[in-house]
Amino acid sequence: MDVHTFAGSPLDRAAHLRRDTDWQAAALRAPTTRMVPFWRLKPLIREGDAPRIAWLGADDLTDILDAEAAHIFLGVDESGAARYAVDVPGLSEDSPPLTQSGTFIDLRAIAPALPEGAPAILAQARSLIAWHARTAFCGACGAPTRTDEAGHLRRCTDASCDAQYFPRVDPVVIMLVYRGERCLLGRSTRFPAGFYSALAGFVEPGEAIEESVRREVLEEAGITVGAVCYHSSQPWPFPASLMIGCLAEAESDAITIDAHELDDVRWVSRDELMAALDGAPGADFSVPPPLAIARQLMTAWAKETG
Ligand SMILES: [Zn+2]
Repeated sequence: MDVHTFAGSPLDRAAHLRRDTDWQAAALRAPTTRMVPFWRLKPLIREGDAPRIAWLGADDLTDILDAEAAHIFLGVDESGAARYAVDVPGLSEDSPPLTQSGTFIDLRAIAPALPEGAPAILAQARSLIAWHARTAFCGACGAPTRTDEAGHLRRCTDASCDAQYFPRVDPVVIMLVYRGERCLLGRSTRFPAGFYSALAGFVEPGEAIEESVRREVLEEAGITVGAVCYHSSQPWPFPASLMIGCLAEAESDAITIDAHELDDVRWVSRDELMAALDGAPGADFSVPPPLAIARQLMTAWAKETG
């Protein structure tokens, strides 16, 4: 299986350089350094037949960024040059800057069109920028926080408190539940008409992945799950989830829908799922695009020789 979209960054994260303030100061001035601007969590993209990240040099951004701007160190590329993400303010309330260099585009929308590896770089950047924006104040004492370690740590500015905040990743289990030749698909009330996906939910504190899978499936569909098998995982930077993909074997059949969360849950046969994956004219429901790990789980199960 190929690496999921939003995983597989080609950058070396070079975590040891985050605390090296001399190296960071030099990198921020180096002509080889490249930065990707974000505006309202949208990356700057050079559009065209082959869209790509609009990497800019520090000089391109000096008029836009103030001295306190957080340069988030993403890592170094294959040539050893530093790569950063920066959150840029708008010209006015609704006017993005840098329009001569590209267009700010929603990452989820543009990701499938980008070259391999680019969505992962932007996923790292987007999750970190969103985290900075939500961690401006100390949760312990309420004082402002400041960025440190090249954008990978925030510290409380009250010296007597000195609380530290690390970027968060929120684990989500997403599971294709199956029993014999059928698998279980559900649709959220938020989904477009006819669209079905794998069940999913956030892992709760004090819960192992397999426990989370069993609880979510029981809550959402009333189905008892036995064996849980890890398949693969996908970063999902909206804002900072990690989708933990599993195949889960059901031990019961009768569905009881949690109407608070789901519009419908149904068993579908392997043939019905194959038709939906193929987009066959006879398919009576649609499934997620290749971007989504849900589809990869469906494909893995549909194509396994059972
Ligand atoms: Zn504090």
